[in-house]
Amino acid sequence: MRCDVVAVGTELLLGQITDTNSQWIGEQFAAVGIDSLLQVKVGDNHGRIVAVLTSVLADADAVIVCGGLGPTHDDLTREAIAAVMGVELHRDEQVAEVIMEMFASRGRRMPDNNLRQAQVPVGATPIAQTRGTAPGLICPVKIAGVEKVIYAVPGVPHEMKEMVERAVLPDLLARSGEASVILSRTLRTWGESESGLNERLDPIIDRLEALGNPTLAFLASGWEGLKIRLTAKAATAQDANTLLTTWENEVRGLVADTVFGVDDDTMESVVLQLLRDRGMSLGLAESVTGGLVAGRITSVPGASEVFRGSIVSYASEVKFDLLGVPPGPVVSEATAAAMARGARQVLGCDVVLALTGVAGPDEQDGMPVGTLCVGIAIRDEVHTRSLRLPGQRDQMRQMSVITSLDLLRRTLLAS
Ligand code: ATP
Ligand code: MG
Repeated sequence: MRCDVVAVGTELLLGQITDTNSQWIGEQFAAVGIDSLLQVKVGDNHGRIVAVLTSVLADADAVIVCGGLGPTHDDLTREAIAAVMGVELHRDEQVAEVIMEMFASRGRRMPDNNLRQAQVPVGATPIAQTRGTAPGLICPVKIAGVEKVIYAVPGVPHEMKEMVERAVLPDLLARSGEASVILSRTLRTWGESESGLNERLDPIIDRLEALGNPTLAFLASGWEGLKIRLTAKAATAQDANTLLTTWENEVRGLVADTVFGVDDDTMESVVLQLLRDRGMSLGLAESVTGGLVAGRITSVPGASEVFRGSIVSYASEVKFDLLGVPPGPVVSEATAAAMARGARQVLGCDVVLALTGVAGPDEQDGMPVGTLCVGIAIRDEVHTRSLRLPGQRDQMRQMSVITSLDLLRRTLLAS
């Protein structure tokens, strides 16, 4: 099955926005074995959209068009598709009703041109709109006697993604006569480079490439670590899940030390869960990160069951006076340990993660930029670590957050 991609929008040609939609669609297709051999951008021009669709469909089995489905006069995708199909547009009453209700429920007046979005080529099936007002379209079309299909989805990335996952991929797979359930599972990792992971997973990657299902992809996510995503297709969700579990175990077998979570897990949610499981409360003493760790922790729903609070002991005197750190240079493992002990007293909690370091731009007390000292108190037991992190101020501080949370996670698992 081959499905090419057409991104519609003059702003794409002018370089005002980057065509990330085609990139994302290409990635999804690759994951489920749909070929995408041509991806083009075209401006908001009726004649050129028609021409590009016609030429793409001469070779491909299907084409997905993103953008130009909105209510304004420069949104021309519907008209262009109707022209390629050789049919008229007609008003889909169900779509019209959804659009009117959407405005009514928000108590807003509906500009008349919004009903343009209820105009559907005769013979096309709308893809229900759940996020925006523009529905997508599945449009069967006969080209030189061969049944093909045009999909239209909105240009707004989150609307587009939702529709592709819900409607376009299943329809494409059904047409290709292949299995119709696609499921992904993402393993979250921290502590290994992309090439390092790649090398360690080499034996599995070779076997998966030979099999073609599931597929494995690496997604670099900066401070959030690297994601390993497995995507399986199968006849039923149960079969897909079984396949994913089998290969998740294979992957874990080779890189277990780097995996901290699955799918929606984050480093902070995993740490909080470990503490919850152990019936332990958490406190923080933050110098170099100035509250960033607390921000991450409190972004997790239910953090209050575990998290007591954070002391942002930024000035040295606050470390001395409030946390009882002995006077002296404050970027050291001894200081991190004293901060952890002191904060445990002040906050009255079981576990404390303490961070002190040098974010730059200048070195401090002879310690270079990037130095991070972590203290972890688990009841009366205190662990410390020193690290050198890369990057300028902002990156160093963000790296400190996830690195120290990962250290806490590992320490909890080992204790
Ligand atoms: P709307 O109902 O919002 O008008 P639409 O289907 O008409 O949706 P466009 O008007 O083409 O979509 O694009 C809406 C916005 O979506 C653009 O301003 C842009 O921010 C984003 N967008 C459009 N096409 C792409 C693309 N190919 N890649 C990334 N973003 C895009
Ligand atoms: Mg638009």
